[in-house]
Amino acid sequence: MFDLSDVRVLVTGGSRGIGLGIARVFARAGASVAVSARSADDLARAVAELDGLGDGVVLAVPGDVADRAGAAAMVAAAVDAFGGLDVLCANAGIFPEARLTTMTESDLDRVLDVNVKGTFWSVQAAIEALTASGRGRVVLTSSITGPVTGFPGWSHYGASKAAQLGFLRSAAIELAAARITVNAVLPGNIATEGLAEMGPEYVAQMARSVPLGALGEPEDIGHAVAFLASREAGYITGHALVVDGGQILPESPDAVA
Ligand code: NAP
Repeated sequence: MFDLSDVRVLVTGGSRGIGLGIARVFARAGASVAVSARSADDLARAVAELDGLGDGVVLAVPGDVADRAGAAAMVAAAVDAFGGLDVLCANAGIFPEARLTTMTESDLDRVLDVNVKGTFWSVQAAIEALTASGRGRVVLTSSITGPVTGFPGWSHYGASKAAQLGFLRSAAIELAAARITVNAVLPGNIATEGLAEMGPEYVAQMARSVPLGALGEPEDIGHAVAFLASREAGYITGHALVVDGGQILPESPDAVA
């Protein structure tokens, strides 16, 4: 089950956080792994860590997913290096806080550009290679925030993460003829560098709201992504998988034992 050793995968936002957790799971399974992000230093650190986890090739393909040409170049670099692509993990995303009362147009544009347009451009650029693969897989990193829950300060972010699910349902139908599946994972609060930047109070408050008693680890998301990318998940498409330790379940904080 779940032999990913011959898989060629590109993980956008793979230099740290959830993306690096996804990349670790694939690298350990022996897959060939390309990680993309904007910071070359972070990518170099990620590649150094991933190299040696398995037998597959690991490489960095720098780029900005919000830029259509940049996303295309990033995918092309991975395809050239691997001779094709089987799995795209469209994971890159940002979550800057902005209250509705003071949100600027550029606050909104930046979140939609990276999280929504970045998803479109990455997936669009990968279609040809994923079609050629014959077992193409797209796995988006959405969130519980937006599709299921809300949090003050993240209305733009929540809208962007819900938009990814609207995208995936139609994309899954469009790409089904090419045997490409399109699914999403919806992480709860995961212990990443990005989340740590929200401050210790936010992190502690979030951990208290999770029935399973702790924030998730990036590899918890990686394992769910690996399943959706596996041959065995080939009949699952258009699905959104919540991976949150039960965080969306309690009716009130008192419901968490
Ligand atoms: P993170 O630690 O801040 O990492 C974000 C990654 O995305 C980095 O590799 C970053 O590298 C890259 N990135 C950001 N903007 C980019 C751009 N324009 N083009 C290319 N790469 C870009 O964040 P994270 O917590 O791992 O979040 C990853 C994904 O999970 C996001 O889609 C987020 O919405 C989702 N998510 C996170 C949580 C959580 O609790 N952490 C929960 C639910 C969903 P550069 O900055 O160098 O480009």
